[in-house]
Amino acid sequence: MATRLDGRQLAATIEERLQAVVAERLERAGRPPGLAVLRVGDDPASGVYVANKEKACSRIGITNLGAHLPAHTPAAEVLSTIQRLNADPAVDGILLQLPLPAGLDERPLLAAIDPEKDADGLHTLNLGRLLKGEPGPRSCTPAGVMALLADAGVELAGKRAVVVGRSILVGQPMALMLQAANATVSIGHSRTEDLAALTRQADVLVVAAGKPRMIGAEHVKPGAVVVDVGIHRIEAEDGGKARLCGDVRFEEVEPIATAISPVPGGVGPMTVTLLLVNTVASWCQRCGLDQPLADLLP
Ligand code: NDP
Repeated sequence: MATRLDGRQLAATIEERLQAVVAERLERAGRPPGLAVLRVGDDPASGVYVANKEKACSRIGITNLGAHLPAHTPAAEVLSTIQRLNADPAVDGILLQLPLPAGLDERPLLAAIDPEKDADGLHTLNLGRLLKGEPGPRSCTPAGVMALLADAGVELAGKRAVVVGRSILVGQPMALMLQAANATVSIGHSRTEDLAALTRQADVLVVAAGKPRMIGAEHVKPGAVVVDVGIHRIEAEDGGKARLCGDVRFEEVEPIATAISPVPGGVGPMTVTLLLVNTVASWCQRCGLDQPLADLLP
């Protein structure tokens, strides 16, 4: 039976580490780290995500400097809010919570975030830094996957890694991080012919296709490490409680894998934690302090 890559437990361990990093440097910094989660409108799922992020901030000593703008806020006003946060010396990280209300184009708004305060690690400059192996904030979900793999002692150098999905949010930065760790990386996507033949080559398989339960035993080489990034809410047919599932048919793959991440409780908690890591790392840098988190920013 496979080892479970327990994201909840690792997230808690990293939070303790962040708490200590903040507490040890607070006096020298002269101010706590600040994260601004900017929410526009009232998407209900976003409300839950933002609340989780704010709770996580308060656990480790990050000040929440976020703003919640009404759904009908004009783009120019959202932009000026971002510019104000860019200029605010108490803000170390900015996150624009997606999705935005219909009619607001996220691209110019995301591009307006100061790259040094890019808590999500998705700014064009920071993706370029990842490509070039330069330090900077890292995309949270793939960096969270790398932390899970490192914590489980998964050796990547020389191994075959396959990433299913090529989004800018997950698949592409994931592939770059695995490659930087000296894995030999392939990417599968919706136009890949015979996906199972590709994924069966993987020693490490990361699935971020956004298709519920699409990866089964036929896709997995026995002994592989499988990370399931997908997350889907499945409504119960009998009107009972909805449940969450991933892109992987866990019960089929667990018996043949060496290690596997569950959904929920795998990659999800790590994504929030990496947001905090990016923010604390930015705080250290902006306050001229040493930054002891490089191992979490691959
Ligand atoms: P996108 O929809 O942006 O990208 C999905 C990718 O999967 C695309 O590259 C697509 O290919 C590929 N794909 C879709 N169908 C198939 C298929 N049948 N076979 C092979 N490849 C396929 O999704 P995201 O990357 O944003 O997210 C992926 C999943 O991860 C979602 O379930 C999302 O909810 C979850 N997620 C979870 C997070 C967490 O914290 N746990 C954080 C972020 C995302 P193509 O490019 O050809 O269209």
